[in-house]
Amino acid sequence: MPTTETDEHKSLREAVAALGKRHGRDFNREQLWSEAAKLGYLGVNLPEAYGGGGGGIAELSIVLEELGAAGCPLLMMVVSPAICGTVIARFGTEAQKQEWLPALADGTRTMAFGITEPDAGSNSHRITTTAHRDGADWLLTGRKVFISGVDIADATLIVGRTEDSRTGRLKPCLFIVPRDAEGFTRRQMDMELQAAEKQFELTLDDVRLPAEALVGDEDAGLLQLFAGLNPERIMTAAFAIGMGRYALSQAITYARDRTVWNTPIGAHQAIAHPLAQAHIDLELARLMMQKAAHLYDAGDDVAAGEAANMAKYAAGEACVKAVDQAVHTLGGNGLTREFGLASLITAARVARIAPVSREMILNYVSHQTLGLPKSY
Ligand SMILES: Cc1cc2nc3c(=O)[nH]c(=O)nc-3n(C[C@H](O)[C@H](O)[C@H](O)COP(=O)(O)OP(=O)(O)OC[C@H]3O[C@@H](n4cnc5c(N)ncnc54)[C@H](O)[C@@H]3O)c2cc1C
Repeated sequence: MPTTETDEHKSLREAVAALGKRHGRDFNREQLWSEAAKLGYLGVNLPEAYGGGGGGIAELSIVLEELGAAGCPLLMMVVSPAICGTVIARFGTEAQKQEWLPALADGTRTMAFGITEPDAGSNSHRITTTAHRDGADWLLTGRKVFISGVDIADATLIVGRTEDSRTGRLKPCLFIVPRDAEGFTRRQMDMELQAAEKQFELTLDDVRLPAEALVGDEDAGLLQLFAGLNPERIMTAAFAIGMGRYALSQAITYARDRTVWNTPIGAHQAIAHPLAQAHIDLELARLMMQKAAHLYDAGDDVAAGEAANMAKYAAGEACVKAVDQAVHTLGGNGLTREFGLASLITAARVARIAPVSREMILNYVSHQTLGLPKSY
């Protein structure tokens, strides 16, 4: 794996940073989404044969990180091109690829992703949204919570389960559920987050879906699911690193200028060193994210799984610390709307919780990597 970025990656980073700078903190989500799509950034990871850029998660994560670093992250990138686009590109039928990939790439259609359930939470083995066959159709019933962007997405990729006809065991499967499907209702959740994307509680009440709504193979659901979850973790790392960099850059500018004794506050090591530490932590997290993206794009799903978890953990922690230190650096101004940093305190926590919490990653690393016994 190269430890420095290629010239192509550097150019992509610069071009996206310029786009982000034009939009900035007060960005209009729809405008930025369609401009990023037109420039080929949203579909950079999708196959060229279906209108994408032919790159991978390495390129897509650069796009999200740079938009975040400019103060205008597009959360739905974690979901629409990264999870849904990847799963459909790898496992979808030809008709699903034709229908969705060019539209996800050019930004004309968006897809949300729903796995989390109220009674399962971090334990996704406990999800109970279930699909039953009804003739050639499927009937899907269940509940989901915290699903982002369902109102702006044309469809949601829902993780459900079907019953194995031989063993009776429930196995995971993925369905594309159109926004206006009968029996598919949403209620906006009252979140303390300032973001363009909202979260929803979903109810699926015997939602009738045609056979073609099932993505990929009914018997390989878990494999297909993981193909989408690793990109999700890598993209959440990119989201966190971008946000951390944005907060840090605001703090650095402020610390250079603000003088209350005889020197700018940035000359005091009590202010400078934590900012330097935050920078180092973000850089380290990015290295792990690049490793994870490299492994994923090279087709090594197992090694990518471990690296993606570690990258998400490192990036979430680095982001929370960078935002906290940035807010502190601005003193009282850290809490004013004018500087807009305080709202990032809540936003940064998302990277610690979703899509998999800090503790569940520590569980994964202690069991899978270190071979320690399981406590739960
Ligand atoms: C802003 C936002 C957007 C989201 N968007 C989406 C989306 O688009 N699609 C989607 O499907 N989901 C989405 N989620 C849901 C997210 O993935 C879940 O919140 C996350 O998986 C954690 O589940 P939970 O909230 O039920 O927490 P719980 O599982 O109830 O966990 C609560 C706490 O207990 C800890 N814990 C649980 N089990 C253990 C254990 N065995 N050992 C140690 N600690 C443990 C956790 O680490 C956590 O700190 C979103 C969440 C947020 C906040």
